Amino acid sequence: MSKLLIDGTWVDGEIVERLTDKYSGAVYGEMAVASKAQVDAAVAGAVAGQRESDLTPYDRYRILLRTARLVDERMDHLVAVMRDEAGFTPADGENEVRRCVQTLELSAEEAKRLNGELVPMLAAAGVRDRLGFTVHVPRGVICAITPFNSPLNTLAHKVGPALAGGNSIVIKPSNHTPLSAVELCKALIDAGLPPKLLALVHGRGREVGPQLLADQRIAFYAFTGSTQVGREIQQAAGLRGVQLELGSIASTIVCHDADIDKAIPKIINAGFRKAGQVCTSVQRLLVDRKILDIFIPRMVAAIGVLKAGDPASADTMVGPMITLQHAERAESWVREAVAAGARILAGGRRHGAVFEPTLLDKVLPDMRVVCEEIFAPVIALIPFDTIEEAVEEANSSSFGLAAGLFTSNLHTALRVAPLLRFGGVHINEASSARVDVMPFGGVKDSGFGREGPAYAVREMTEERLITVAY
Ligand code: NAD
Repeated sequence: MSKLLIDGTWVDGEIVERLTDKYSGAVYGEMAVASKAQVDAAVAGAVAGQRESDLTPYDRYRILLRTARLVDERMDHLVAVMRDEAGFTPADGENEVRRCVQTLELSAEEAKRLNGELVPMLAAAGVRDRLGFTVHVPRGVICAITPFNSPLNTLAHKVGPALAGGNSIVIKPSNHTPLSAVELCKALIDAGLPPKLLALVHGRGREVGPQLLADQRIAFYAFTGSTQVGREIQQAAGLRGVQLELGSIASTIVCHDADIDKAIPKIINAGFRKAGQVCTSVQRLLVDRKILDIFIPRMVAAIGVLKAGDPASADTMVGPMITLQHAERAESWVREAVAAGARILAGGRRHGAVFEPTLLDKVLPDMRVVCEEIFAPVIALIPFDTIEEAVEEANSSSFGLAAGLFTSNLHTALRVAPLLRFGGVHINEASSARVDVMPFGGVKDSGFGREGPAYAVREMTEERLITVAY
């Protein structure tokens, strides 16, 4: 049972929702849904918890580091939890846990490292006997609202920097994946975090979300999810702080001089892991027309060996999507594209909530598989003749989170990278290349603010200038 954590205590909800396994549909647990009074009490507890906290930066470092160790030790259990609630294969689950451990370790380091700067007051004309410096002080209560597709590590990217910076945090995880959040909270408390610094409320975003957004005791919203909900959060937050990690249509460009042996496994991983439900998944694959004849058969062969199906099976590469409806939507977009002239080169079929890894070509710009975020294991291959054309195609999306560029020509790589309007451009990697130490975030409709503990901890604290006349 996924309980609620309110004012430092685990409690039942007033309503209970059943949780079903994403592959078999069998009921495996229950989620306590927070009432309005419980959401209110959760925020009140976090306000009090933050005010009462006397943890030093070193204490926070120790707690976050111990949490990282506990998460690591609980790997097998966490992988099983995410198999049921997110449909993750063992490889996807283990990767999620390893990254969460790393994010917590990096956050622990930031607790010790968070520093202001000395302001050179005497460098201004006529100023004498003045000292100036800045410090970073906690904002107060941070609210983390997170999606289903990275239920542990995305949460760690909010919770780690928030706590490292001395804040308390109210967590609203996706109602599809509440249990990973419960497990992370348990690890934090077992590691010695005063429980009142944490609150966890479950429920549907449309119900619990607006109440959290209206609550003026919350100083900052750390949100990852769709652009549509991101816009609502930005509006409701007003002048309060926000970090918005939103939707994406990621492009990966393969130039004629790319090392295809290295590129294809990276593209396959980026397009199909977590059943394509990754914000930086390759959706548009732009390939130089000169190499299509060798590239397409190699991609099709590589997709042909991927096993899609039961995430409990060790050799499954592509598990189920988060709900049957998500898989049906992907199927309908592919069918619609095919009816308008697209060709299926690989995959294309749905088996319950499992959608086969799919490669399409002969796509058109106005097909939804190209111009809307599909968030499914579907790649649309688009040929190009010049690199300028590829850049224009990649930039034509309203999103701008991440792009990949495969080329062996350093001049092309370094000339083109700044022209790609994305938060991150990865040379000789696919769009989803990520190491958790990086600044990670988008431009345009993909949002703003940066994850990566060293960057997020600064956003989640206030920089205070202090001057002294002596
Ligand atoms: P979503 O926007 O539907 O939900 C995200 C969270 O917001 C959930 O916890 C949900 O309950 C909550 N929510 C929903 N309506 C709300 C409201 N009115 N007020 C407050 N909270 C509300 O997203 P999802 O379907 O869970 O995740 C998929 C989306 O997330 C995709 O668009 C994907 O690109 C994006 N995503 C982005 C990144 C990134 O780093 N940019 C990473 C992962 C996922």
